[in-house]
Amino acid sequence: MEKPKKLRVALLSSPGLGHLIPVIELGKCLVADHGFEATVFVLPLQASRAEAEIIKSAMTPKLLDIVELPPPDLSASGLCQDAAMTMRLVVMMREARPAFRSALEAMEAWPDVLIVDMFGAEYLCIGDELGIPKYVFVPSNAWFLALFIYSPALDKEVKGEYVDRTEPLEIPGCKPLRPEDVVDAMLDRSDQQYHEYVQGAGKILTGDGILLNAWEDLQAETLSALRNEEFLGRVVNGPVYTAGPLTRPVRPAGLGKELLEWLDKQPSESVMFVSFGSGGTMSAEQQVELAWGLELSQQRFIWVLRQPTVKALDGSFFDVGKGDAGDEVLSFLPSGFTAHTRGIGFILPSWASQVEILSHPSVGGFLSHCGWNSTLESIVNGVPMIAWPLYAEQRLNATLLTEEIGVAVRPKVLPSKKIVGREEIEKLVRTIMVEKEGHTLRDRVRDLKSSAQKAMARGGSSYESLCKMKEDCQMRIRQIKKAH
Ligand code: UDP
Repeated sequence: MEKPKKLRVALLSSPGLGHLIPVIELGKCLVADHGFEATVFVLPLQASRAEAEIIKSAMTPKLLDIVELPPPDLSASGLCQDAAMTMRLVVMMREARPAFRSALEAMEAWPDVLIVDMFGAEYLCIGDELGIPKYVFVPSNAWFLALFIYSPALDKEVKGEYVDRTEPLEIPGCKPLRPEDVVDAMLDRSDQQYHEYVQGAGKILTGDGILLNAWEDLQAETLSALRNEEFLGRVVNGPVYTAGPLTRPVRPAGLGKELLEWLDKQPSESVMFVSFGSGGTMSAEQQVELAWGLELSQQRFIWVLRQPTVKALDGSFFDVGKGDAGDEVLSFLPSGFTAHTRGIGFILPSWASQVEILSHPSVGGFLSHCGWNSTLESIVNGVPMIAWPLYAEQRLNATLLTEEIGVAVRPKVLPSKKIVGREEIEKLVRTIMVEKEGHTLRDRVRDLKSSAQKAMARGGSSYESLCKMKEDCQMRIRQIKKAH
């Protein structure tokens, strides 16, 4: 008897490693655990070594196909040079539609299912044109999703800027959100990116379901609010599936020889890893305070160091990883820092093998910008965090990690200077690495690590959720066939 044909899913990632990495992992998971065939379409942010490495490592073992779309021509798009990140992503995705259509046409056969990430909601209609089920993958958590899909309602309810409010924003069934924790796109309601964001929220609801990079036990209450018939259930067309935590696997030879040798020599859980994602940068003044804080803490550390910026905190998002910053980044450190921390600290210019570092037994803390991938990578390795949010939805993530999930501490900003002072950094590094509070956070994150493993294993909540998503696909395909 002939084997039933496998469903082929086309996954589209928007630009940026924070999207590309989890979209590839979702594709791999659908192939390895759920019997799909997958093609991932990638819209590169830039030709960076990091991006090329991620794509290359995703091909061994080769579970899926990866198609790189040509960079879109933005000359007629009206996008200004200094446009905010959300705006740039939205416009790049919009302008890449013809390239995606051509790439689909070049496939041997049309895909059976389409999954686009959250900036690709405008592609859902392609699913309709092809007569196939279509889903949206939100590479973030349930609280973020609730804020995102409730933003059109907030837009109607709230007058003036969200950040000027004194009361938290109420999202039914969810923890109220402090105004200062809104995502970057909601900080200025007169900015075009705000309108794109709110419209995008409406568009993702036209899909057949939403997949999240989270799991049931992590955010049970918020997930139940999202699915509640009385509230979001009315606006969310299809179900919300939990697919996570989807994180990059550790590559056996991922760490350089020198770093591996150094890490191997350090005591267990004694090293603080300091990194701000694929695009995080800080002012020169803040970077100097951070250097001082690390030195004063007298704790071991690995620091992914970037050139400071005077622009927005995500100012280098589109530049990081393009070239390879060399030792010149060291010139931005206080004089004597490298000499004083020799043997205690390890500086990596610009980019690091993050999952490999976090999985090393000598690493015991992560000072992170709270990007959702970094957050999950910390949790699945049982590493407590210092939550230092910079941009996008990271302030919300930081609040979630410190006040709800209980795996992080958050630094206080000096109101006079709007930076985190060296004493505060010293204190929090010691809290994680030495103090009793650090042990409590470590116990909690270890519990979460095992709950994450259970969720992803056969029979676990995320595994079962993706089984349901597959059944939903099959049911929709049958219905579409019947209707024709
Ligand atoms: N990353 C890495 N090395 C670096 C910086 C980032 O491997 O030096 C990876 C990190 O492991 C994560 C992704 O890039 O998987 C960043 O995603 P995240 O959501 O944490 O933050 P974003 O960069 O999107 O702000």
